Amino acid sequence: MVHIEKLKFGYTKKQALFRDLDLELQPGNIYGLLGKNGAGKTTLLKIIAGLVFPQSGNCRVNGMETRDRKPEVLQDIYIIPEEYYLPPVKIANFISINATFYYRFDHEKMDWLLKEFQLDKNSKLNQLSFGQKKKFLLAFGLATSSRLLLMDEPTNGLDIPSKSQFRRVIAASLNEDQCLIISTHQVRDLESLIDPVIIIDNGQIIFNQSVESISTHLLFETRKELKENEQPLYAEETFGGHTGIFPNPGNRETKIDLELLFNGVVSNETRINNIFEK
Ligand code: ATP
Repeated sequence: MVHIEKLKFGYTKKQALFRDLDLELQPGNIYGLLGKNGAGKTTLLKIIAGLVFPQSGNCRVNGMETRDRKPEVLQDIYIIPEEYYLPPVKIANFISINATFYYRFDHEKMDWLLKEFQLDKNSKLNQLSFGQKKKFLLAFGLATSSRLLLMDEPTNGLDIPSKSQFRRVIAASLNEDQCLIISTHQVRDLESLIDPVIIIDNGQIIFNQSVESISTHLLFETRKELKENEQPLYAEETFGGHTGIFPNPGNRETKIDLELLFNGVVSNETRINNIFEK
C-alpha cells in the first residue's frame, strides 16, 4: 500500500533528515512508528500524507505519488496530527462539510464513535477540552474508513479510561484492507495494539519486525545475576537485578517490553538485528 524508496528529505539543504530511506507498508497492519524526539516521525507521516514533499526518491500510496496530491489518493488517506486546529463549528456541521471528501465515510460508525466517546453532535468543536478534541478527531478519522490512517501520538491527552477505550475502538473498527500507522512515545498505551514495530533513527529505518518475529527471536527477562554464557543483547539495571533482551534459541515466549526493545535497538541496532538474520 505504501512504498517509500530512496527517500531524501531535509527541511534545509544542509541538514538531511532522511537519507535513502526505504519502507514498505501493507494493509491489515497497525504499524507502531517509534523514534527519539526529532527523529522525523511526524515528518515521515506528513510525507506519506502528501503534506511535505520529498527532495528525491519516491513515496507512493497505492501506486501514486502522494506529492502529486491527486484527489483519488487523498480521499483514501486520513492523518490525525499531534497539533491541530478545529474550527468554531458544531460537530454535526463539521461532519456534513468534511465527510464528503472521503468516499468511504461511514455515518453509522461516526454516530457509534461519538456515542462511545460521549461527544454531543451539537457541541462546538472549539469549545471542547483538549482530550475531547482528540477523541473527536479519532472518531472522524476512523469514520472516514480511509484505507490509510496516520496517527501522530493519538493517546496524548487521553485520560486513563480513554486509552483503553481507544485500543478497543481501533480493534473494533479497522478492516483488513486498512493500514494504520501510529507514531508514539506512549508505548505502554499501545503495546497490545501495534504490530509490526518500526524504529526510525539517524534518517533511516533501523528496525522493522512483526511482533511474532520479535517474540520468536528475543527473550525479555529480569535475571538476578548475569552469567557469563548468557550475556544480554541489551540490559538495564532494575530493582530485581538486570532486565534484559536475550537471544531466544529455545523459542520460549515472553512478553515484549517495547521500551526495552526501543532502548536496545537505538543503543546497538546491529547486535539486535543480527539475531533476526540467523
Ligand atoms: P517528536 O518525537 O519530538 O515529536 P519527531 O520524530 O516527530 O519528533 P519531527 O517533528 O518530524 O520529529 O522533526 C524532525 C526534525 O525536523 C527536527 O529536528 C525538527 O526540528 C525539524 N523540523 C520539523 N518541522 C520543521 C519545520 N517546519 N521547519 C524546519 N525544521 C523542522
